[in-house]
Amino acid sequence: MDSETTITENSDNIKKLPPSVVKDIELKNHARRLASLSQIRIKVRSCIACGTFFESAGNRTCGCNTRSTGFIAGREII
Ligand SMILES: [Zn+2]
Repeated sequence: MDSETTITENSDNIKKLPPSVVKDIELKNHARRLASLSQIRIKVRSCIACGTFFESAGNRTCGCNTRSTGFIAGREII
């Protein structure tokens, strides 16, 4: 029924990263700061596969087509 849903930049439509992943990124960023590495930034982007807006820590898809990949900072780790 919602195959042609218009996606707006409303946060209600954005797939959030799980809190455990956000926490993991925060910990990594702390370590990276100590090592003078660039920070991992969570930003909203649209999935290149399905177009859904999602919070990304660098991945380009929301996880819809990457089930076998196993992201460190993606949505596939539970
Ligand atoms: Zn997707």
